[in-house]
Amino acid sequence: MIHSLNFRLLVAFGIVIIVIIGSVFFFTYRTTHGEISRFADRVGSMQDKRLELELSRYYEMMNTWEGIQPFVVQLGNLYGKRILVTDNEGTVVADSEETLMGSAYTDTSTGQPMRPMMGRKNVGTLHISEGEALDINRAALQITYGTIGRFFLWAGLLAVAIALLLTSVLSRRILAPVKALGNAAREYGKGNFSRRVESKGKGEVGELARSFNSMAENLEHAERLRRDMVADVAHELRTPLSNLTGYLEAIDDGIIKSDKKTISSLNEEASTLSRLIDDLQELSLADAGELKLITRPEDISGLITETVTALQGKATAKGLTISADLPDGLPEVNIDSHRIRQVLHNLLVNAVAHTGKKGRITVTARHEDDTIFISITDTGEGIPAEDLPVIFERFYRVDKSRARATGGSGLGLTITKRLVEAHGGTINVESQPGQGSTFTFTLPVVK
Ligand code: ADP
Repeated sequence: MIHSLNFRLLVAFGIVIIVIIGSVFFFTYRTTHGEISRFADRVGSMQDKRLELELSRYYEMMNTWEGIQPFVVQLGNLYGKRILVTDNEGTVVADSEETLMGSAYTDTSTGQPMRPMMGRKNVGTLHISEGEALDINRAALQITYGTIGRFFLWAGLLAVAIALLLTSVLSRRILAPVKALGNAAREYGKGNFSRRVESKGKGEVGELARSFNSMAENLEHAERLRRDMVADVAHELRTPLSNLTGYLEAIDDGIIKSDKKTISSLNEEASTLSRLIDDLQELSLADAGELKLITRPEDISGLITETVTALQGKATAKGLTISADLPDGLPEVNIDSHRIRQVLHNLLVNAVAHTGKKGRITVTARHEDDTIFISITDTGEGIPAEDLPVIFERFYRVDKSRARATGGSGLGLTITKRLVEAHGGTINVESQPGQGSTFTFTLPVVK
């Protein structure tokens, strides 16, 4: 829980929200507080002005302070202030609390000289002190501040609660795809690659989900290939192995004799097995991109002629003609001669195997720009159109039973294709059933 992204997001957002809302409320509270105090001061000084005006007007009307006392008491009660009026000699002529009348009032620091509007000279001094009203005002202000403070506190808490709730809902929504990715990854960990995540979003998470799905597709494909490969290999190994055990059991039971012929059959099955294993090893190296090529500029014409000559005996034995028809002056190619000899050999052996008596096998080559095209054409049985797209797939055989009888592993063309591609070339096939096939591969010219 503590380490979940959701919780961390919530805490991070929570801190940010509390800091923002807290500082907004703090400054608003401080400003409101200051404004209210200033307003209260202004009201107080306006009251004092008004008092002074009223008392000056009295003197103006009466031309004496006599009889002012009840008026001052009234004003004192009205404004909740202590009001003292002294004449020019400093004698108290009126006191809102009625205690200092007639006495001398010497404290001049708080006094305000009073001058009637028409008059030129001072007629007395007005002393105002806050009296009880100050405490009452203070208490009222304190209550106001308290109310405002409480309002801000509750409003703040409510805002924080709403913000946290929204954050929680939003973070859940934002993190839902991430969670789905995590769940899917766990499934892949268990080897179940069929799971896909929703990838509708346009943003980074959507992009991530799409990459994730395409990765899952690749994994699923690789896993399928691996399973097929294991199944294919098991299937391919089973036939020669069961032939071997069949022979051995028959010898054991005395059904067949362990003569030269039987031993040669056993030997043939064993070499089929060992060929298959060699081919598989080669293919797995090619699949892993670990085919080590020792390339150097080579004369391709010489290589073709040598390979054709090597197969001459086999072809003649089958009543076939095999020849190379090469133009003069073919440029050198950058190849691993051992591997390209293997390519030519595989294609020629296939051509011999699939071409009937009196057939013809020709190897031609042409040079175009930076590429040399080498074609092996036979006049054999050909390959049906539906088989052409899959002919280079491993263990693929057009005629399963017959091909196995010829001892082919079904890996020859797959390995051939890998070898050509490892040299930076391509290979393709054209064929007309009943008329023959042409396999053409390319090799890069030395620059
Ligand atoms: P194999 O070891 O069985 O020959 P390959 O991968 O070399 O396996 O060839 C795959 C299949 O392609 C063969 O079984 C055969 O059916 C077909 N094939 C290959 N070369 C030719 C060809 N020149 N003419 C007709 N069919 C061919």
